[in-house]
Amino acid sequence: MKIYAYGFPRIGINREYKKVIEDYWKDEVDEEKVIGVLSNIQKQQIEIYTKYVDTFPQGEISFYDPMLDTTILSGIYEPKNLKEYYELSRGMKALEMTKWFNTNYHYLVTDFSKIKNPSFKVNLENIAVQFKKCSFPQFIGPFTFLKLSKGIDKKDFPDLFLNLINVYREILSNYKQAQIDEPAFVMDLEKDEISLIKKGYNSLGDLKCKVTLMTYYSSVDFIEDLLSLPVSAIGLDFVHDKTNYEYILEKGFPEDKILIAGLVDGRNVWKEDIYNAVSKLKILSKKVTNLMVSNAAPLYHLPISTAFENKMDVNLKKVLSFATEKLEELKTIGLCFEDKKETPEKYVLGSYGRNDEVQKRIDTLKQEDFVKKVSYQERRKIQDKLLNLPLFPTTTIGSFPQTGEVRKKRKSYLKKEISFEEYKAFIRSEIDKVIKFQEDIGLDVLVHGEFERTDMVEFFAQKLSGFVTTQNGWVLSYGTRVYRPPIIFGDISRPNPMTIDEIKYAQSKTNKTVKGMLTGPVTILAWSYYREDIPIENIAYQLALSLRDEILDYEKEGIKIVQIDEPAFREKAPIKKRDWKGYFDWAIKAFNLTTNISPEIQIHTHMCYSEFGEIIDYINKMDFDVISIEASRSKGDIIESFEGIDFKHQIGLGVWDIHSPIVPSVEEMMDIVKRALQKISKENFWINPDCGLKTRNWEETRSSLSNLIKLAKKLRDEI
Ligand code: GLN
Ligand code: ZN
Repeated sequence: MKIYAYGFPRIGINREYKKVIEDYWKDEVDEEKVIGVLSNIQKQQIEIYTKYVDTFPQGEISFYDPMLDTTILSGIYEPKNLKEYYELSRGMKALEMTKWFNTNYHYLVTDFSKIKNPSFKVNLENIAVQFKKCSFPQFIGPFTFLKLSKGIDKKDFPDLFLNLINVYREILSNYKQAQIDEPAFVMDLEKDEISLIKKGYNSLGDLKCKVTLMTYYSSVDFIEDLLSLPVSAIGLDFVHDKTNYEYILEKGFPEDKILIAGLVDGRNVWKEDIYNAVSKLKILSKKVTNLMVSNAAPLYHLPISTAFENKMDVNLKKVLSFATEKLEELKTIGLCFEDKKETPEKYVLGSYGRNDEVQKRIDTLKQEDFVKKVSYQERRKIQDKLLNLPLFPTTTIGSFPQTGEVRKKRKSYLKKEISFEEYKAFIRSEIDKVIKFQEDIGLDVLVHGEFERTDMVEFFAQKLSGFVTTQNGWVLSYGTRVYRPPIIFGDISRPNPMTIDEIKYAQSKTNKTVKGMLTGPVTILAWSYYREDIPIENIAYQLALSLRDEILDYEKEGIKIVQIDEPAFREKAPIKKRDWKGYFDWAIKAFNLTTNISPEIQIHTHMCYSEFGEIIDYINKMDFDVISIEASRSKGDIIESFEGIDFKHQIGLGVWDIHSPIVPSVEEMMDIVKRALQKISKENFWINPDCGLKTRNWEETRSSLSNLIKLAKKLRDEI
């Protein structure tokens, strides 16, 4: 049995990817140095692959993002050097960023509406794609690239696609073999799109290049057509759901092609059930002449190796498998298939980390736990009286600039260079400053600034039971940005209050209302790895109950507003719309369970990073009082979608795009508000930035917020 693998993380064993690129941005190293380090990472990758697998593509390295590389490869952008390449990635001229399928990776989006007469041409000589100059390169496919771009008129799509196919033809004619990733094939596609894919790919039939067409993240609805495309090998995901597998068992697989059977999970961290994988492979081998086994999704959604986790409980580490271990498992599957190795026993977590009390809480949940007793309209009256806020109340989303000093103090504390008391005193002094700042500038609802938090999920994972966080489990989120997804290994509970101390302290420093700040259950789940033998909704409800306990503690301390951040609410939705109902059912219930508390506490939620128009009906079923939602980049759409529904709650449309260093003027923010006020009543309108201010500096924050306050004053005067 031959083994195939792809998508190994590009972060480097010591995160050298991040380091060298960021040094380059700081002008500390030159282009050559970056290329050198990235080449070394590629060498590392190849060494690891070679140890375990037979076949793998190369050129999976990118200087920032493979989707950006694709737009360059096809001649849309032509950066002349790395400096120009990074201008497309970050800063003022950068392309917009959005989530890659339902993962927490973000890619750079090519907006065709910004390109005059787009035409494609082969741009293989560009510095950005130099890693593609190898014997078996990997590319993002033309369909996926265009489907995930924006600003393409539906009627222009076919021509653009066929033109792009011609460019790929030219590219591929340089190679003997290549891997082409078309994950967009697993989306809900229209008949026209499928015909187009057929037309395009069929026109490549005479090429000598052996193409491996890779699909992943889910099953392909047009599998019959897919299997007829003139390529050498086709990769299918057999992990996400059973559809692909059942199709092959029933209908077989063309004899002239290789089936690359994705049997090892690329998106979760648990050891495979080798026996099960081998059995499936044996059944497949009766139906399929040419068969290889591989990972079912690119491995970059996983950290590099569990070998670097030396503080973890061995009983847990034993059942974990990161990217390198996945390769090892692929090799084992191959050997077991050929009876060259005895099938290892199945690793199970079983009762590890389970907690009867928590399970009992879940088992005894009743329908009414998910439904608030007091309606929004009634709550509004109660809260208006208690909060006494002006028209167009102003607030921020939670975090304030995480300065070098804040990060340095946290580091010294983690390294035990300073004591807990000293660290706590430092955080308190930051809270003092930020409360005073907000009072001086005139905000209505204050926050404590989140200085104690590194990451909005890891922070809670470290305080909840049932979670473990890793030392070195870094995963790329976008560009050079890395995060360490926590692992949910058992039932979740809250042994101690998590955020009360800071919020209570902040509230004690002001007469204005301070918002409590929590990350919501869906987002914590979306950005963690979790067990698959516990129903996902139960994990979400466990989180919900723990967070609700926290809100009950806020209530005891007299906190009047609590914000539940759910930036991953849209992202976690399945790729196929037919699976949406099942997901949103539990996701909405989890949110409503979290916030099912006294009507006197005003519940805010916050969402960002996504297009919300298509999930507006689901958002409307979440029983919050106020939602702050990103809007400053895609203004029109979101406002229109609120018009279409009966939306009664209060809303804060983000009027300041905090992902940009530009200070917004009162006038441009006023434009957004004026447009929104045609659809949303003024009594329901809050004024706020579109996300947390963690990544901004103080100067930008001061100027932008002061404009934001001016805006609110102007609005109050005018109306
Ligand atoms: N409260 C968080 C912050 O302000 C929200 C972050 C987010 O939405 N991603 O940083
Ligand atoms: Zn946000």
